[in-house]
Parts: sequence; structure tokens; C-alpha cells
Amino acid sequence: MAITQDNSRSPSPKNIRQVDATTLGIAWNDGHESVYAVKTLREKCPCAHCVDEWTGEKRIAPGSIPDTIRPVKLHSVGLYAVQIQWNDGHDTGLYTHEYLRNLCECPQCKKKTAA
Ligand SMILES: [Zn+2]
Ligand SMILES: [Zn+2]
Repeated sequence: MAITQDNSRSPSPKNIRQVDATTLGIAWNDGHESVYAVKTLREKCPCAHCVDEWTGEKRIAPGSIPDTIRPVKLHSVGLYAVQIQWNDGHDTGLYTHEYLRNLCECPQCKKKTAA
């Protein structure tokens, strides 16, 4: 049996770029354009160091992420996630495409989450 990759259901990033020093942009293969404040992305790191595996509680103290936080390197992990390496040395966060899409801060998505 052939293994087929079904990417049609969840959008994946086509292009990830640094919009400016503090903003990251993702162009998705379904045409959506996402923007993220890099600091927010760092605060929302889903790894076991930053979020308690059992309780889902955040281990990052509010305000503990400096304004100087920057992504240093991004790389794709398989077909489902992006790993971000930060200039504070942190690199264990795997941001799944689904998670990234949920974190989108564009006006369109913000309206949706606020409603
Ligand atoms: Zn983390
Ligand atoms: Zn959006």
C-alpha cells in the first residue's frame, strides 16, 4: 500500500519571513497571510520547558521574555511543524502548523478569536 500525504485538510506554511525585527510573517498555501509578534510566539512556546506537560500550565513568567527576543533560525520538522531557535538559546519549541495558524494575529483572525 502506498503512503499518501494528505495535506489538503490543514494549511501549511509556504513561506516564513521576518517582516521586521519584531514581526514574523507566514504565507500559507491556502492564501492566508499571518503575522506574529515574535515576543508573543516565544511566550507561547509549547515545549515541555515552557508549558507543564500535565497541567498545561505556562512556566514562562509574564513579562520574563525580553523585548530583544528574536528568532535566530527556523526549520521545518516533517510536514507538520516548525522548530524555532531563539536568541535566548531556547530551541526546543515545536510549533505545529495548526498551532501557528491558531496564533495568527492578523486582523481577520483576531476578530474571530475576540468574537
Ligand atoms: Zn519552550
Ligand atoms: Zn490570520
